Amino acid sequence: MIAAPVDTTTVRALYVHIPFCERKCSYCDFTSVGGVQRQRPYVAALRAELRRIAEALPGTRLDTVFIGGGTPSLIDTQLLTEILDEIRTGFTLAAGAEVTMEANPSSTTERKAEQWLRAGVNRISLGVQSLEPDVLAFLERVHDADRAVGAVRAVQRAGFEAVNTDLIYAAPGLDDARWRSTLERILDLGCTHLSCYELIVEEGTPLASAVERGEVRTADADTALRQHWTAVELAGRAGLRQYEISNFARPGAECRHNLAYWHNDFYLAAGVGAHGHLPPRVADLILPSREGAAPAGEAHAVRYWHTDSIPDYISGSHPIAGVEYVDPADSVSESILVGLRLTEAGLPLDDRGARREAETLREAGLIEWDGRRARVTARGQELLDAVALRLVNACDGVAHAS
Ligand code: SF4
Repeated sequence: MIAAPVDTTTVRALYVHIPFCERKCSYCDFTSVGGVQRQRPYVAALRAELRRIAEALPGTRLDTVFIGGGTPSLIDTQLLTEILDEIRTGFTLAAGAEVTMEANPSSTTERKAEQWLRAGVNRISLGVQSLEPDVLAFLERVHDADRAVGAVRAVQRAGFEAVNTDLIYAAPGLDDARWRSTLERILDLGCTHLSCYELIVEEGTPLASAVERGEVRTADADTALRQHWTAVELAGRAGLRQYEISNFARPGAECRHNLAYWHNDFYLAAGVGAHGHLPPRVADLILPSREGAAPAGEAHAVRYWHTDSIPDYISGSHPIAGVEYVDPADSVSESILVGLRLTEAGLPLDDRGARREAETLREAGLIEWDGRRARVTARGQELLDAVALRLVNACDGVAHAS
């Protein structure tokens, strides 16, 4: 009997990880190392993985590709071109596909940006983080404010229309006036997208140890909230609407790749440390034997992640470090946890228990609920995790009969 072909049409996004940085920042818990010494063997292994995936999933059509890191702008442009050529050879890029690359100001020039554009990148996400010297020093970033502004202008001059800048607030010593000034200067540059993230002390980072030893005092919750609302206000005034808790865009310039995460959609992943989310039958085709993993049962999805060891990844011996089945109930919970972040579009709720809880949350002023979609109110944004958990805990696994 010939097996029916596996449907890959729900898999439209690909994440590719480049783990090299100029040096490791103290607050960072991404898979990344200082220095690019191993970029060539790494890219060879990455291309081999991309080829394997593409051969296993013929005809896969991608709407978005996201090359993240690490610092992808640091690697040799020729290598970047080879990665994108590999992707175009193996997969079909849909018309108008979004191809994002993360870049840091210190490794961005107009000439390089022109080469990235020629290689097929059409959206740049710049890790500016701050324009304040003490904050940049605290974050151990290698650029200064001039370099950051220069990098934004360089990618714009090179021809990139879709440009995001990442900023960090609630950093130690960053008062409201200086945060406001950073936002104003960045927004003046006319980028199409802005991401503002609160500095989070991630477990296991040098920053976490410094906080534990009492050497660093992080901003209090009130300061963090005030600075969040300053970003919402100033971005809005500049024509960038808040569409996700931490993300702002001109209409139509939202990051489509990240929207796939917030919609809890499926996506492929390649590279060290990269996480993927696939339908079980698609995962079967690209993941090695899943012996020892929980039984698939009625699994709705499979989450998998790569080794975070660059040598292991390059050797190709153990590229996949873990696989986890997601049952339908967990998938609903995941969708609530990520989907409630979408402040503009909101989250469709089908679960009967969650819908009942949505009524209560609406009465408490925490969400807007029109009987179909839930959107957090301003107060709900401030209590996002608690609101999401209440919806998750209320789920009873029974779908609403429409
Ligand atoms: S540049 Fe970004 S990815 Fe690299 S170490 Fe710093 S925070 Fe982490």
